[in-house]
Amino acid sequence: MPDDIAADAIAERLFEIIDSRREELVALTQELIRFPTINPPGEAYQPCAEFIGRRLQPRGFEVQYVRALGTPGDNDQYPRINVIARRDGAAGASCVHFNSHIDVVQTGSGWTVDPFAGVVQGGKVYGRGACDMKGGLAASIIAVEALIDSGAPLPGALEISGTVDEESGGYGGVHHLAERGWFSPPKVNHVIIPEPLNVDRVCIGHRGVWWAEIETHGRIAHGSMPFLGDCAVRHMHAVIERFERELYPKLAARRTDMPVVPSGARSSTLNINSIHGGQAEQQGGYPAPCVPDSCRMVIDRRLLIEESIDGVKAEVVDLLEQLARERAGFRYDIRDIFEVIPTMADRNGPVARHTAAAILRVLGRDPEFICSPGTYDQKHIDRVGKLKDCIAYGPGILDLAHKPDEYVVIDDMVASAKVMALAAWSLVNQRA
Ligand SMILES: [Zn+2]
Repeated sequence: MPDDIAADAIAERLFEIIDSRREELVALTQELIRFPTINPPGEAYQPCAEFIGRRLQPRGFEVQYVRALGTPGDNDQYPRINVIARRDGAAGASCVHFNSHIDVVQTGSGWTVDPFAGVVQGGKVYGRGACDMKGGLAASIIAVEALIDSGAPLPGALEISGTVDEESGGYGGVHHLAERGWFSPPKVNHVIIPEPLNVDRVCIGHRGVWWAEIETHGRIAHGSMPFLGDCAVRHMHAVIERFERELYPKLAARRTDMPVVPSGARSSTLNINSIHGGQAEQQGGYPAPCVPDSCRMVIDRRLLIEESIDGVKAEVVDLLEQLARERAGFRYDIRDIFEVIPTMADRNGPVARHTAAAILRVLGRDPEFICSPGTYDQKHIDRVGKLKDCIAYGPGILDLAHKPDEYVVIDDMVASAKVMALAAWSLVNQRA
């Protein structure tokens, strides 16, 4: 570690540079928002990636573009283009990587400003992706630029990536890159994902996910004589009734040691995403009277690090099997849709520790260590890249993500850029 006095001088220098670039940080955020990188379908990925690459090249970054050929949604109209920029260090020490997704979700209704104009008002930048997560991406770019321009010794490498498709699972983005070694040691040692988790919180991981579709089967008959058929919706009701009576109380009682926020998400949860039984909904006219022979329900089970995915699945299947034994005519199928294993970094690991120290220095208070109730790209870096030293840290309020009039507070972007610069500087001074 560099000695304290030198470290102090470097921190002050970094803060000065970042304060002087406040307007530039705002302008960069606006420029990023103006690329309407809506996913699906994955619009404007290429120009946005190239904009980032062009920005970093003059600072000595080697820039590469990686198209995730053949991943979901990739085609010539909507190519999945990722950008990775690397600037090698002087002495081959640790590499710190800032990873941001460039895709945003659709705008939806209810906006009072143009979602892709980058409107600045009352100390905030508005727009789709302002908080999730172009504000964080801009802050990380300003942070590394300040670090380079400060003249501080940089023994380790700096990397910045702009990746696609996080909002749809990350398969054309971080997952694709991780499979090809872009997120593994010794190339990369520490990763910070500037997702909007608030300027004074270090997010060390996230819960897992299991989506499945349950289908109950019945027998079609005339609706005036339902006793001649067998109603699949009533069978599904029995499933939900069993969930209410047996599963939900069990899930609510199961508490995790993960510091998940909000605290309601510190238990296992199960949402019923959708349910449909019987005929398709009618566009016009009356539906014909029929007993439904099929009912389908999609469940969204969020799991804790203490749970195994197999155990989670077995718990639901056991209830269905019970019903099959006890309830006349009960037949079902269950189909996996999607799953993510929970992940959690060590809060005493280098990236969490140095980021926490930087937060204390910049904001004058100790950070909160949290986990996210949902998931983000950390799962791929952990499971596929085999890199554990990864956190999410960035400006913006998570509750605003995906909403109309999404914004990021400019003061928070400036503060988080200082935290990122200082944390990165400590990390590139670590022995790899
Ligand atoms: Zn995000």
